[in-house]
Amino acid sequence: KERNPDEPEFHQAVKEVLESLEPVFEKDPKYKEAGILERIVEPERQIIFRVPWVDDEGNVQVNRGFRVEFNSALGPYKGGLRFHPTVNVGLIKFLGFEQIFKNALTGRPIGGGKGGSDFNPKGKSDGEIMRFCQSFMTELYRHIGPDTDVPAGDIGVGGREIGYLFGQYKKIVNAFEAGVLTGKGLDWGGSLVRTEATGYGLTYMAEEMLKDQNDSLEGKRVVISGSGNVAIYATEKVQELGGKVVALSDSDGYVYDPEGIDLEAVKQIKEVERGRIKEYAEGRSEVEFCPESFDIWDVECDVALPCATQNELDGESAQTLVDNGVMLVGEGANMPSTPEAIKIFKENDVLFAPGKAANAGGVATSAIEMTQNSMRESWSFDRVDETLNDIMVDIYDVSQEKAAEYGKEGDLIAGANIAGFLKVADAMLDQGVV
Ligand code: NDP
Repeated sequence: KERNPDEPEFHQAVKEVLESLEPVFEKDPKYKEAGILERIVEPERQIIFRVPWVDDEGNVQVNRGFRVEFNSALGPYKGGLRFHPTVNVGLIKFLGFEQIFKNALTGRPIGGGKGGSDFNPKGKSDGEIMRFCQSFMTELYRHIGPDTDVPAGDIGVGGREIGYLFGQYKKIVNAFEAGVLTGKGLDWGGSLVRTEATGYGLTYMAEEMLKDQNDSLEGKRVVISGSGNVAIYATEKVQELGGKVVALSDSDGYVYDPEGIDLEAVKQIKEVERGRIKEYAEGRSEVEFCPESFDIWDVECDVALPCATQNELDGESAQTLVDNGVMLVGEGANMPSTPEAIKIFKENDVLFAPGKAANAGGVATSAIEMTQNSMRESWSFDRVDETLNDIMVDIYDVSQEKAAEYGKEGDLIAGANIAGFLKVADAMLDQGVV
């Protein structure tokens, strides 16, 4: 904490991982002896840069850009870019740190990294977004590449932004290096299912966990926070599997639809018009809108899927969910549950899928996009979707196995952290002190 002051999310993420790893260090002292612990919490490289751009009124605006290249033991750094006013170096470090273990869990050859900017895309015109992305890439390009560091989207960065970023990269390096970014458009190197992957993957894992209890999502009442990329495609897959999604949110509040969310209407508002979730309640008398986003957990449900942002589900919300009979919580977002919330879920035997495992489908599909780019191929939707499903089941199985092996039966947090750590740590041992 002294070396990294004012980085509470990073400390929170590191603490959780280190606690999980205690049985590993007890069993095998070689990781401590080789200084793996000290090295794994220190990014290999952190880049902070100025992003100047001109708004529609002709004023010069200045934002700050970040890229944290955390760990390359398993492959090129890989992780998304977040554009949100709350972005700072500690936040990007927390996300990059999580990404190391998540990427290892996918079984694909990718290291961990993350980046972004404190730029607020809300209310900006297309032209402003484009000029910002171009300026951002004018610095970032020199640090990334298909075999070096491969960014993707995250909060505030979707297909439109990836397009502008890729266009600028291509222009500067004078080469069509498709593998430098993932989440690209389908006509120019993108992969089918990448858009859906995180939400679908989360749902596949939830279904697998319920299957182990001789149950399924069929007929379950589901609450999903957020209404961005992850939330929308989690809703789609839950509905396909027979579940009923009754609430969605954004930072202005949440909507509760007792009949079940009409997803086409949400897609129109969010993906086409780039509007707000409260518009969903307009003209629908049965739908309630509540202006407190994080009160969404008051809505009674069997399954809760937090898919908005970090620390959006605190101890009090967790207790409400438990009192209302929740049986499964699956994290679509990164670290959405506070440590207090997790403690309550554990004490009450709620099935719990941590983000590192449950939202790994996005980056896994990004890795599949990189494979297709290298081979200059385009796989079919079904082929990618089946591979994604297999990867999610594998992640669940290996997390279960490692948890049991280290005396933490059923604890997917410990299992995912241990399984991810062992892969990265063994690679670091092989590669010497670098
Ligand atoms: P989007 O930008 O598409 O959507 C984010 C959603 O969460 C929006 O509805 C947004 O509302 C809401 N939200 C964000 N911040 C806040 C906040 N502080 N308070 C309330 N609501 C908030 O992002 P994604 O769907 O891509 O990402 C959501 C989460 O999933 C993040 O934690 C991300 O790191 C994680 N994730 C994403 C992956 C991906 O493939 N996209 C992969 C793995 C993890 P509003 O529009 O009002 O801001």
